[in-house]
Amino acid sequence: MAEDSRVALVTGAGRGIGLATTRRFLAEGWRVALLDIDGELLGHAMAELAAPDRTLALHCDVSDASAVTAAVRRAGGHFGRLDALVNNAGIAVFKPLLETTPEEWNRVLAVNLTGPFLATLAAAPIMAEGGGGAIVNITSISGLRASTLRAAYGTSKAALAHLTKQQAVELGALNIRVNAVAPGPVDTAMAKAVHTPEIRRDYHDTIPLNRYGLETELAETIVFLCGDRASYITGQVVAVDGGFEATGIGLPTLRAARRNM
Ligand code: NAD
Repeated sequence: MAEDSRVALVTGAGRGIGLATTRRFLAEGWRVALLDIDGELLGHAMAELAAPDRTLALHCDVSDASAVTAAVRRAGGHFGRLDALVNNAGIAVFKPLLETTPEEWNRVLAVNLTGPFLATLAAAPIMAEGGGGAIVNITSISGLRASTLRAAYGTSKAALAHLTKQQAVELGALNIRVNAVAPGPVDTAMAKAVHTPEIRRDYHDTIPLNRYGLETELAETIVFLCGDRASYITGQVVAVDGGFEATGIGLPTLRAARRNM
């Protein structure tokens, strides 16, 4: 692998969308720093990727300012450059508003919103030194419209969508593009933990493509936005959701009738 091949840092890369994104970057010739709070997951991911010359494991909590600064600098030093940052690490607490504790609220905001802010502070100067780069923040459909049980999660993702635009406005001067990808339901460990069979059925009913998304489908969009083919795209939130956001509340009965036509 060429010493000058591009470098991405992916947070929450131990599994799910982050690991799928890492695989896509590697397939397109990039080198990747995988950052995750879970050392065991990170170890499994590194073993499975089996690309020690092109990967670097960073065991780190995205909400810890000094740890994030050190981890991002280590990635820049190790590979000699940094071209893309994917702020993917996130946590979901799905609870009624009045049962959400201040501790849960603070933790969700710290990981989902402050994490991307901190990683950007550390990464942007390294990207700028190399002439620019791209940042992709992973938000959610829950940040585009309100839904039940998502007071903390949905608010953190809506705020991250706005942070994306703030970052795009200011970092454009450094030739750094910033976009967000808003997944609909994707069949990852996170979704399995919080989606009951009934919730899964409801999602199928209200998504025009009639299925959950695949991690690889998210990875395609994320890696596209990081690369030169997206060179004039910045400040956007791209929903990768099978049409979920476009449908509003939907009329499941009419949709079911149409499927039977
Ligand atoms: P996941 O739970 O499968 O993976 C998340 C990864 O982030 C894990 O490896 C976890 O260890 C890591 N992580 C968690 N907290 C961290 C922290 N503080 N510091 C560093 N790493 C941390 O989740 P996923 O389904 O792959 O989701 C990835 C992103 O996509 C999240 O931001 C999530 O909110 C978003 N998203 C997912 C879905 C879905 O249906 N799966 C839908 C919309 C948005």
